Amino acid sequence: MSEVRVRFAPSPTGIPHIGNTRTAFFNWLFARHHKGKFILRIEDTDRQRLVPESLPKILEILRWLGINWDEGPYVQSERLSIYKEIAQKLIEQGAAYYCFCTPDRLEKMRQGQQAKKQIPRYDRTCLRLSKEAVGKKLKAGEPHVVRLKVPDSGETSWEDLVQGKISFQNNQIDDQVLLKSDGYPTYHLAVSVDDYLMKISHVLRGVEWISSTPKHLLLYQALDWPPPQIGHFPLILGSDRAKLSKRHGARSALDYRDEGYLKEALLNFMLLLGWAPKDNQEIFTLGEMISRFDLDGIQKANAVFNIQKLDWFNGIYVRQKPDQELLQLIEPFIAKDADRSLINQTIPLVKERLVKLSDYSSLAGFFFEEPKVDKKIFEQNAKEQLSGAIDILKGVKTWDKEDLQKTLQELVKERNWQTGEFFMNFRIAITGSRATPPIVDAIAILGREQTLKRLQVAWEKQS
Ligand code: GLU
Repeated sequence: MSEVRVRFAPSPTGIPHIGNTRTAFFNWLFARHHKGKFILRIEDTDRQRLVPESLPKILEILRWLGINWDEGPYVQSERLSIYKEIAQKLIEQGAAYYCFCTPDRLEKMRQGQQAKKQIPRYDRTCLRLSKEAVGKKLKAGEPHVVRLKVPDSGETSWEDLVQGKISFQNNQIDDQVLLKSDGYPTYHLAVSVDDYLMKISHVLRGVEWISSTPKHLLLYQALDWPPPQIGHFPLILGSDRAKLSKRHGARSALDYRDEGYLKEALLNFMLLLGWAPKDNQEIFTLGEMISRFDLDGIQKANAVFNIQKLDWFNGIYVRQKPDQELLQLIEPFIAKDADRSLINQTIPLVKERLVKLSDYSSLAGFFFEEPKVDKKIFEQNAKEQLSGAIDILKGVKTWDKEDLQKTLQELVKERNWQTGEFFMNFRIAITGSRATPPIVDAIAILGREQTLKRLQVAWEKQS
């Protein structure tokens, strides 16, 4: 393969959701796999839909995930003269024409077509203007756009790298606006010109762009430019099989980060949203992702966003982290004044149970705050068992995990209690909850005074 040059070309019209970020990631993996270049291009030519805060967020997402770019960011609004020049060239060649129709007229035309159940498209009124008439209007400074003159017959087709052969009848394609009246190019002109000038070898994007592709190919043809190879990634659906919605993953990578997901988990999760290996491997290091990823693994079928899967990946990657690193990662999710050395001691205990980093507080909160114990959640015999525990723990010599375990087990045996019942009562008294990290490890950290205090409070609640 000659040099691979791919691009991620977000429009700063909002904070991209996981679908767009997956497109970036797949392009990046493809570039890294083939030792090619990954180019970042900001497609900001739709001035009406521009959301200024979104560009910094797009960059933040890429940086957080480590999707680094080799060139750019190129910014289309800084390249207007290039698009104008190409539009001019197309007009001179007869492949494009000026259109002076007012938005009002176009709206009426559209309504008329809709009423007749026709596909709305430009009726080519301005294509019929004489050269002189056009010259006059231009001279008079009439607002205008430039439209592509789509051939009346024939078809435009390509061998899609993912979807196979795709064809469109030319007579079904609208005379697309290329240059708008504000002098900005439309997406179609800018994307085609830039993909060509930036020597993009493979255009790889989401399947929602398929109907734009014939317009781009017609532009390439008119300009006598060789087209890039083209592939369209499958759609990502929500777990309800409907279009990705806010409830089902139409959120940004930063939202997931702020909820306590690790970037490793998100990358591994995105990898499998539309790509699958030949075997059943699910967990991939970044190195493996790069070496294994290629277009033949891209699925045609829609991918489904399954948050449980993301949770599962996150748990796995959390457990792979050294405690010290995990401590730093948890930092943003805990109170500023929480005792750092206490947190440090609790990490090994909660690590097994953490799904998201933000779960730390609910799992380990009892270390920092005495629990509100609800009498109703205790098992039977709580009063007797708690009192027995208090007596025996008052007397233990060394407050050490092994000794504590032995002492409590002996107590249970001696009194003929049920082990499960006793430890549940004990756990609830200490933590206020029925599901916690190993309880003896926990009291070893909490210390004698705090442990006895909590047992006493819980005991007093029993009638
Ligand atoms: N600017 C387009 C977007 O917002 C890029 C589509 C493409 O990759 O051609 O996603």
